[in-house]
Amino acid sequence: MTAAIIDGKAIAAGIRAELGIRVARLAGHGVVPGLAVIIAGNDPASAIYVRNKARASGEIGIRSEVHALDAAISQETLAAFVRRLNADPAVHGILVQLPLPRHIDTRAVIETIAPEKDVDGFHYFNVGSLVTGEPAFYPCTPWGVMKMLEHEGVPVEGAHAVVVGRSTIVGKPMALLLLNGGATVTICHSKTRDLPSMTRQADILVAAVGRARLIRGDMVKPGAVVIDVGINRQPDGKLSGDVDFEAARAVASRITPVPGGVGPMTIAMLLANTVKSAERVAGLGGRAETRIT
Ligand code: NDP
Repeated sequence: MTAAIIDGKAIAAGIRAELGIRVARLAGHGVVPGLAVIIAGNDPASAIYVRNKARASGEIGIRSEVHALDAAISQETLAAFVRRLNADPAVHGILVQLPLPRHIDTRAVIETIAPEKDVDGFHYFNVGSLVTGEPAFYPCTPWGVMKMLEHEGVPVEGAHAVVVGRSTIVGKPMALLLLNGGATVTICHSKTRDLPSMTRQADILVAAVGRARLIRGDMVKPGAVVIDVGINRQPDGKLSGDVDFEAARAVASRITPVPGGVGPMTIAMLLANTVKSAERVAGLGGRAETRIT
């Protein structure tokens, strides 16, 4: 079997086009969605991510503002900055680019963001809503994976999903979204004994580790859907995922590439959360996931 490639770039482009229509509808109600991005310090990868997010926002009519703050900023000044954005009616989404400088208590900063503007879905309110299955802002990467599965018509209900990785921003919310979708979920991590025996049970296998080619072809069940979240910079400068793409492709039924798989979906879902937030403010209701009380 040669797996079909799940084209995240194309799926994300379709989502962005739909969002553009919703942004135009908002304009008819006098609302321009606004996304505020805070970046503190000089991490080059973060700078690229922020630039990409701002560009993608602008392309569909979201107004974005990037606040580049000094790496030496104090906890209190950063928190005060976030609170100012919380109070700004032109800002519907607030994103604090991680990682923050080491002296900053990241969790405390995230908890300062108003939950109804927390378009990254990292605030405890949104995390708790995900756990209880309530509508919320879902973290962009795992939500993007769910949208990919939906787009591809992959049945989640009843499937055995195996998530490799248990981070707060990818692995755990991924597992919860799959669980809420009716999958039987196994979560693996660095302490898992016999990882291959776990991954071989997966109808849906999500790799979110950060280790190039950790998932070999013989770790994939024939016919599985393989979602590769990992982004690993190779010595030659190229990007690779956590999955040995060619080997897994020979076994799986569908597979995401790196790049061009999950990455574009992450940005599309950030835009989706920002538009939903603006729709909520405009009283347009939006989808079920917009409801934040
Ligand atoms: P973290 O480093 O926070 O988490 C990695 C997880 O992998 C941990 O739970 C860790 O286990 C687990 N792990 C490490 N080694 C092994 C191993 N040998 N076997 C099994 N599990 C292992 O990373 P993130 O979750 O933030 O990111 C994961 C990857 O996804 C990275 O490559 C990142 O760049 C990428 N990413 C991609 C995005 C996109 O848009 N495509 C967005 C966000 C991230 P333990 O908890 O025990 O340490």
